[in-house]
Amino acid sequence: MIIIMLGAPGTGKGTVAGILQEKLGIKQVSTGDIFRKNIQEGTKLGKIADSYISKGNLVPDDITIGIVENRLKDDDVKDGIILDGFPRTVVQAEALDKILKESGKKVDLVVNLTTPEEEIIERIVNRRVCSNSECKTIYNLQLNPPKVEGICDKCGSPLVQRKDDNEETVKSRIDNYMKQTSPLVEYYNKQGNLYNAVVSKSINKMGKDVAEDIAKMLK
Ligand code: ADP
Ligand code: ZN
Repeated sequence: MIIIMLGAPGTGKGTVAGILQEKLGIKQVSTGDIFRKNIQEGTKLGKIADSYISKGNLVPDDITIGIVENRLKDDDVKDGIILDGFPRTVVQAEALDKILKESGKKVDLVVNLTTPEEEIIERIVNRRVCSNSECKTIYNLQLNPPKVEGICDKCGSPLVQRKDDNEETVKSRIDNYMKQTSPLVEYYNKQGNLYNAVVSKSINKMGKDVAEDIAKMLK
């Protein structure tokens, strides 16, 4: 089963993907996490990625596609994958379709998350993530705070704020989403595998609720 998480920054892609990974036993792969790990380790890829990410821009398609193409060859994703944050451009989506087709696979489900823009900014500014790369649980200081301030409930590691989670960068990330990524909604709608869900506190629906709906639907 190949699942794609689509949605503007801060809509809850990572949260929904993380819960689906647990419930469905399919590996979550986040291109953002791969870039952040490389930035932390100071690799060549990390240096290149950082120059784009810190400005709120997308990392170039050829680099990103190459990473995903390689990751798809790994044994732990041979029966399925939840792609969290990829594809983000039509070029990436077309490349993915081609890569999957070569091994007789296809995208099975595209989860498209939407959240009102005012809520997105509030969520991103209040987002904290577990610094343990094996855990990476996502918290929100207002909507979903940890039990002990600054500490992950699940593994006890310190929580950190992502460097790109600030108000200036968020605006260009949302802008880039509108220009480069939002056309994918129609791209996958045409393929007939789009699942739309609104994540918003105004309707009392959070990422975990959406994940439960999807898990039920797939069972
Ligand atoms: P968010 O959805 O909150 O923006 P991500 O962790 O998915 O967070 O992505 C962080 C950053 O990594 C993005 O702003 C972008 O610069 C880069 N990135 C992640 N995935 C891709 C992709 N598929 N193509 C290009 N850049 C990407
Ligand atoms: Zn943790």
